[in-house]
Amino acid sequence: MCPGRDIAVAVHEMRAGHPPLLELVKDATRAASGSSPAPGPSTPGLPEPDDEGPLYVARRKIYPQRVKGTYRTIKWIVLLVTLGIYYGLPFLRWDRGPNAPDQAVLIDFPNSRFYFFFIEIWPQEVYYVTGLLILAAMALFLMNAVAGRVWCGYLCPQTVWTDLFQAIERRIEGDRREHLQRDREPWTLDRLARSGLKHFLWLMVAWWTGGAWVLYFADAPTLVKELATFEAPLIAYMWIGILTFTTYALAGHMREQVCLYMCPWPRIQAALTDEYALNVTYRYDRGEPRGSMKKNAALRARGERAGDCIDCYQCVYVCPTGVDIRNGPDLGCIQCGLCIDACDAVMAKVGRPPRLIAYDTDLNVKRRQSGEQPEFKIVRMRTIFYAAIIAAVAGVMLYALAIRRSEAISVIHDRNPLFVRLSDGELRNAFTVRILNKSLERRSFVLTVDGLADIDLKVVGDAVTTGRTATISVGPDQTYELRALVSTYSQLPSAASVPLTFSITDAKTGERASAVDHFRGP
Ligand code: SF4
Ligand code: SF4
Repeated sequence: MCPGRDIAVAVHEMRAGHPPLLELVKDATRAASGSSPAPGPSTPGLPEPDDEGPLYVARRKIYPQRVKGTYRTIKWIVLLVTLGIYYGLPFLRWDRGPNAPDQAVLIDFPNSRFYFFFIEIWPQEVYYVTGLLILAAMALFLMNAVAGRVWCGYLCPQTVWTDLFQAIERRIEGDRREHLQRDREPWTLDRLARSGLKHFLWLMVAWWTGGAWVLYFADAPTLVKELATFEAPLIAYMWIGILTFTTYALAGHMREQVCLYMCPWPRIQAALTDEYALNVTYRYDRGEPRGSMKKNAALRARGERAGDCIDCYQCVYVCPTGVDIRNGPDLGCIQCGLCIDACDAVMAKVGRPPRLIAYDTDLNVKRRQSGEQPEFKIVRMRTIFYAAIIAAVAGVMLYALAIRRSEAISVIHDRNPLFVRLSDGELRNAFTVRILNKSLERRSFVLTVDGLADIDLKVVGDAVTTGRTATISVGPDQTYELRALVSTYSQLPSAASVPLTFSITDAKTGERASAVDHFRGP
């Protein structure tokens, strides 16, 4: 078994302050039945529910069974919404006025811009991206604190695409039983045709996934035309090829192996969880001792206690990662809730209450066992902490956006030489000045340098200079870089470093921005 699972279980049990869940399940069974439960039958196509094993076991193909229910419906809705956004967003238009792209979400590498609806991020404002990453991480932590691996079960791209690929597979190869049967049979024309169609459709989805990705980096309708007429840049075809291959391999073939062996999140998540996080939990206090309907009926007839679990394995058959949740927390469990739907259907058929498997905590199972009321603590220190960080970071970002200026200036002193003494005794420093015009119209800026009594400013290029000011015209949504030569006859102390303020003022609106550097002397 993977060591991550041991870590997950160990951390979980340590925090919950009770022995491993599997032992509790066994204890509950023994206590109720007075005997050791026989291990469940080996399930074709599913890993054995062993606790021990090698670090890596060869993959046994999983044939997840179709299931209906609340969580399956939620998963379909999430799948449709997330894939709809991913495939459709590049075609959504957003009018930013003339001289600006009208694609709502665009990563414009050639012009170093990121457009997100009304927000336009320049390279100098990469801190917005940092803020977004912090928000994403905190949202993930919050989700984990509230409902465990809800990200993995519903929103992770690996889960969403695997779900889609499995839906295609089920449509063509049939549900679990039919697919298992077909895989046992020798290759026939029908089997070959079905397999060929399945892989073709998988490749089409994968290809469209790669195609949608590149549309975020250029004007989507234009790029689609260029791709169709083979006039698109080579890099676009390369990325489509790479993403077609990875989507096909990860969602079509590797599936749960990605979650078990490649993804770091289950390991991190195990260290971040606590005993109050809701997880898909088998309520062993209610389910044990498990047994067939007949056996349980006989037990009840004798006045003995029988669990609600009829050991039908439906919860295991529907699991996309092949987990038997009745064995306790498992690194392979992505908390998708499909086993809840499967078990609820079984409970309805046998006339028992639903939610033998439910989003719950082991702590609550123990509390019920000892006759106490279950406790659900969604609002607690860690959820408040994560929510507070999210609110603070979002607040800072919104404030920064609200006061965001449409002009900016940055100044860099020449590294070498730091100063030059001219033949008439004048001292000169050279600077690289960058003026940013973030608005969508051409603007005239007056550049002023202050800090020394007598300053002579010269700008290399087509600016108009007078004394310590220069007038510079900057095109819409552009950056203008210039060399500024600042000279003075003032007597400076030895090794002087006098602060200089470079300011730009919009000649029309009076909007202003400034930056500080230093004038160096001998
Ligand atoms: S579906 Fe429910 S009743 Fe059937 S094995 Fe799973 S937990 Fe037991
Ligand atoms: S055990 Fe249940 S919740 Fe976990 S992955 Fe399997 S079906 Fe989903």
